[in-house]
Amino acid sequence: MIEGWPEKILAAQEQTHYEISGEDFSRIPFGREGNDWGADTGPCHDCRVIKGQFHVVGCDVERCPRCQGQAISCECDD
Ligand SMILES: [Zn+2]
Ligand SMILES: [Zn+2]
Repeated sequence: MIEGWPEKILAAQEQTHYEISGEDFSRIPFGREGNDWGADTGPCHDCRVIKGQFHVVGCDVERCPRCQGQAISCECDD
């Protein structure tokens, strides 16, 4: 695990919303993505959060709460 990563995970839990185009959207926690990323069997393969936690910002598993696309590659504003 990268040094300082547990702190990043903790910080990610404080950010519960994304503001996109002036609107607040609730972030999608691990295990609620709509497809199975293994939340019942282990932590997120990319950012290591466990089921029910918010992903560390920039995780490639996180879904965008606005378009349901991949948060790091969708067209919505951050
Ligand atoms: Zn993740
Ligand atoms: Zn989006």
